[in-house]
Amino acid sequence: MVGTPLTIGVLAVQGDFAEHAAMLRRAAVDAHDVGSREVAVREVRTPRDLQDLDGLIVPGGESTTIGKLLVAYGLEAPIRDAARNGLPVWGTCAGMILLARDIVGGEPDGRIGLMDLKVQRNAFGRQLDSFEVDLPFTGLDRPIHAVFIRAPLVERVGPEAEALATLPGGRVVAARQGNLLATAFHPELTPDTRLHAMFIRSCQQAAGRRRRAA
Ligand code: GLN
Repeated sequence: MVGTPLTIGVLAVQGDFAEHAAMLRRAAVDAHDVGSREVAVREVRTPRDLQDLDGLIVPGGESTTIGKLLVAYGLEAPIRDAARNGLPVWGTCAGMILLARDIVGGEPDGRIGLMDLKVQRNAFGRQLDSFEVDLPFTGLDRPIHAVFIRAPLVERVGPEAEALATLPGGRVVAARQGNLLATAFHPELTPDTRLHAMFIRSCQQAAGRRRRAA
C-alpha cells in the first residue's frame, strides 16, 4: 500500500546529521516491510521545519554545542512539546544526552530532558575514547555492530524507560520510553540499516495513530 510519504526530520544544527539522513533514505529502500511508504527526509534548523513531521532524529555531535543552538534557534521548547505529544524522537550519542532527564558530567544549556534516564557524558574516558562491539538489541534478530565515540552511558534507567541494549557486563547503552528512543552509539556510521528501519516503522505507527485520532 502506498500512502502519503512519511516526513522524518534530522536536527541539522551540528554533528553527523548528513549520515543519519543518508541512512534514513537507505533504510526506506532496503527494508521491504517499510518500503510501502516513501520517506522524505527534512533537515531541521528552525521551528517551522518541525511542522508536520512524523519523526525526528537528534544526531551525535557535541551536546553542549547542539544544546546552545537549540536555544539560539528557538527549537528547544517546540521539540520538547512535540515529543510530549507523541512525536517519535531518536537521539544518538549527543542526542541521547539531550533526551535524558539527568546528566552527569556537564549539563547542556538547552535540552529536551524527557527520558527517565541518568546519563554519564564521556563515560569511557581517554583510555577507551572510541571502540566498536557487537551487541544484541531488543527487537532485532541478530546483534548490531555498535560504534562508540566519546560516548555516554546510561547510569540509571528509571521506571518510565526500558533498556534495549547493554554492553557485556550489563551497562546500558540503549533505551526506549514510549515514543522516545536513545542509543549511546552511532548506527548511522555502519552499513546496517535495521535500527533506522525500526525507527521508520515506529514513525509509521505513530502517524497511523494520529490519523485515527483525528
Ligand atoms: N562526547 C559528546 C558529548 O558529550 C558526544 C559524542 C558523540 O555524539 N559522538 O556531547
